[in-house]
Amino acid sequence: MRVEDPKVVAALPELGVQLRANACLAELTSLGIGGTTDLLRITRHEAIPELLRLLDSHGVPHKFLGGGSNLLVRDGELPWVVLQLVSPQPDVVLDGNLAHVDAAADLGRTVTYCAKNDLGGMEGLIGVPGTVGGALRMNAGAYGMQIGTYVREVKLYRTAGRHLETLRGDHISFEYRHTSFAPDDMMLAVTLELPSKPYKEILQGIRICNEKRRSSQPLGQKSAGCIFKNPPGASAGRMIDELGLKSLRMGDAQVSDRHANFFVNAGRATAQDMLALIANVRERVAKAFDVILEYEVVVWNG
Ligand SMILES: Cc1cc2nc3c(=O)[nH]c(=O)nc-3n(C[C@H](O)[C@H](O)[C@H](O)COP(=O)(O)OP(=O)(O)OC[C@H]3O[C@@H](n4cnc5c(N)ncnc54)[C@H](O)[C@@H]3O)c2cc1C
Repeated sequence: MRVEDPKVVAALPELGVQLRANACLAELTSLGIGGTTDLLRITRHEAIPELLRLLDSHGVPHKFLGGGSNLLVRDGELPWVVLQLVSPQPDVVLDGNLAHVDAAADLGRTVTYCAKNDLGGMEGLIGVPGTVGGALRMNAGAYGMQIGTYVREVKLYRTAGRHLETLRGDHISFEYRHTSFAPDDMMLAVTLELPSKPYKEILQGIRICNEKRRSSQPLGQKSAGCIFKNPPGASAGRMIDELGLKSLRMGDAQVSDRHANFFVNAGRATAQDMLALIANVRERVAKAFDVILEYEVVVWNG
């Protein structure tokens, strides 16, 4: 979709919004799949209510992009624009055990920065690509920890009420890859409260997690992490593996031969290839185990 209305185009710089025309989502997502649209990069949180009013009043639909590491985006010309926060500098400010973090901050760099300042707890998140906002949205976690445990406060834009709001962490429910945020809430900043730990000890934990990832995940290939959530008490990857589906390929979309819940773009996969592969695997798992796997990856197919 193109932002063409001269009134909208003229208003964007005043709102601190940078317009990148004809951006290719395949270049902005870790799967390397997705069509083209205009990208609006937001440099000031305060401008968001006004920006969304402007887009709504001119009939410009939008979607919100973090780091693009959990997304499968449709092919071709996309029927909505994409909004993305630009990270301010500094994007992490420490105050004792509190870390005030912008939602656009890179998750891995945030974990490392906190670690160097003797703040731990998030070792499992090292190696999870994307932004802190994206991690909050779906309560990212690994190796027995999840980001929600450390959230004390979230600043967000609530699309339903069209206002900025600050929520206390204990008023938000964080479950396995699920949160109580509304689907169109935009996370803008978070305050994390992290336990004190010597850097050396944190580093040891980080090394262990890194090693686990390296030995089990196809890190050199384009993926969006796990495609499916684990059903209660079971492992989606194990089910897919037991059916002998590792390396199953449709077009250039392929079930990884290292981790059966990672589907990779093994060349020039299209969204159609990937969706066909996902549907095929899901159907086989349903037949064999009587389990309907839920998506962990977010699909922008509409
Ligand atoms: C190699 C690899 C390993 C991975 N390992 C893990 C893992 O161990 N554990 C895990 O949990 N995940 C893992 N992931 C998935 C992914 O990295 C996480 O889900 C990450 O937190 C997504 O963040 P993002 O900024 O990239 O979000 P995006 O992919 O950009 O967006 C995902 C969703 O979040 C929404 N969103 C993004 N930012 C915001 C915001 N500020 N406010 C509101 N909504 C927002 C988007 O609209 C979209 O719906 C892995 C991915 C890869 C490629």
